[in-house]
Amino acid sequence: MLRGGRTQAAHMKEQPMSEIAESDLRSLHEKILVCTLCGLSETRRRAVPGEGPAVSKIMFIGEGPGRQEDLEGRPFVGRAGKFLDECLQSIGVQREQVFITNIVKCRPSEKSGNWIRDRKPSADEITACSRYLGRQIQLLNPEVICTLGDTATSEIFKRFSLEEDTIGHVHGRLFLAGKLKIMPLYHPAAALYDNSLRQIILIDFQGLRRVISQTKLTSF
Ligand code: URA
Repeated sequence: MLRGGRTQAAHMKEQPMSEIAESDLRSLHEKILVCTLCGLSETRRRAVPGEGPAVSKIMFIGEGPGRQEDLEGRPFVGRAGKFLDECLQSIGVQREQVFITNIVKCRPSEKSGNWIRDRKPSADEITACSRYLGRQIQLLNPEVICTLGDTATSEIFKRFSLEEDTIGHVHGRLFLAGKLKIMPLYHPAAALYDNSLRQIILIDFQGLRRVISQTKLTSF
């Protein structure tokens, strides 16, 4: 067996698990960058695998890259991302401490008159991309997953066999899938269109702060 397995020759130094996860994550992300499993690969500028430390025990999962993310190849760097950063800062967390990704790794977009606008990913696009998220979860082995918005919440609830409900009912509550803690949150973009949600999201992040301190996450 390769990579730090017990059957390696005794004289070979074992590679720490964190280094293995990091290099496996890097090669996974290289595959995502050239993926052609669905039609989104034809319209994307850049795929957006996700970012954050491989040792992070907390994952944030959004729906899919938007225009700015598609341009930069990084998740949550547009207006919604700025609010996500603010929410994280409000609980003393820097975005560099957490792993941030999306359900689909390429921008779902459509033509609307002379404009190209974002749209929700289709079921087929989500299915095509689900292997990548599955592998990221396997490699990171997070203790806490925060889903951002209804698409991410629905997909993660299905993946971990939790009973689905609307984001309006489940936001800010903690769900358990074995030892894994799952906290659904409103999508930060929702606060850009509905100012009353801003305060609700910030309150939900206070709940997340309590979860983080109870979980005694090693990377914090
Ligand atoms: N919205 C998302 O769901 N993901 C991003 O990366 C950016 C905006």
